Amino acid sequence: MQIHEFQAMMKHLYFKRDSERGIQGTYNWLVDEVAELGEELKGTDREATEKEFADVIAWLSSLANIMGIDLESAALNKYNYKCPKCQHSPCQCTF
Ligand SMILES: [Zn+2]
Repeated sequence: MQIHEFQAMMKHLYFKRDSERGIQGTYNWLVDEVAELGEELKGTDREATEKEFADVIAWLSSLANIMGIDLESAALNKYNYKCPKCQHSPCQCTF
């Protein structure tokens, strides 16, 4: 499954509810899920951490769907096999 296929699946599952919730409400859910992922990263429960990663990409997909943004195209347009800042692969930016 590719990113656009996952996003399409999420649209099929949740687009009506996501649209009714709206951009800000869906963004708030995404932020909550990112915070939950941050909490899981402090622990040792690999399965729970994987589920939080799943929630983050699910809510990111929901937000992109109601914004009409294709996540796969957006990601590849910016990160197309090279760093968008230094244009190298792997990245050679100084920290
Ligand atoms: Zn770089």
